[in-house]
Amino acid sequence: QLTLEKVRKAYGDAVVIPEIDLDIRSGEFVCLVGPSGSGKSTLLRMIAGLEGITRGTVRVDGEDMTDVDPSDRDMGMVFQSYALYPHMTVRDNMSFALRMRKEDPKLIEERVAEAVEMLDLKGLEDRKPAALSGGQRQRVAMGRCIVRKPKLFLFDEPLSNLDAKLRTATRHQIRHLHDRLGATSIFVTHDQVEAMTMADRIALLNFGEIMQIGTPQELYLQPQNRFTAGFLGSPE
Ligand code: ATP
Ligand code: MG
Repeated sequence: QLTLEKVRKAYGDAVVIPEIDLDIRSGEFVCLVGPSGSGKSTLLRMIAGLEGITRGTVRVDGEDMTDVDPSDRDMGMVFQSYALYPHMTVRDNMSFALRMRKEDPKLIEERVAEAVEMLDLKGLEDRKPAALSGGQRQRVAMGRCIVRKPKLFLFDEPLSNLDAKLRTATRHQIRHLHDRLGATSIFVTHDQVEAMTMADRIALLNFGEIMQIGTPQELYLQPQNRFTAGFLGSPE
């Protein structure tokens, strides 16, 4: 369970997130949507510990994570730009974090094989990123997260560089993986359709405030304000 309590973010005088309270249940898939600049990436980065919190608390299963180092948080983050290591093979890219942690080579091998299987990357283990398609690279980036078996996945528009067909396929794959791993996920997207089809709940952000949070049906059929109605294109 992930809990944000009165989380605030300001850069100097610029308040990006005034104060957010958010509760995400274990096993939930929550899509975070909202206009450009509304604070989606900032929120994810604060949860991941990549960005300091001006005020407030982030808890995982009740435990205060605010001062925990990002690498010690049981979270995996997948960005829009995959940032794979160009000089390393698929296998080495995927195993990097585990090798840094000096995990048992046997375990590393098992985890990579498992991820390769799940992500349909068989036969590509010895290739370098330059010899992969965009979708394959995106899956390797996912693989790098999966091998660590984090409880919490944070996705920041991971599909926005993919073509329409691949987006749809990868969308299903991510949701399937989430279910299969029993993970908790927060998925940032600009795409309403993506949010409607993937999410257990959607949180709609505007100027750093949650305008509404609920199931796709709730947001679509019972928008609580004009913003929600307008954003999801539902009838007012
Ligand atoms: P997009 O959909 O375009 O990715 P977003 O919702 O992810 O947008 P953020 O990247 O979280 O938006 O940015 C929220 C606000 O914070 C923006 O107004 C941005 O200019 C501001 N911001 C982000 N990083 C910094 C920074 N390092 N210093 C000052 N302002 C920043
Ligand atoms: Mg962003």
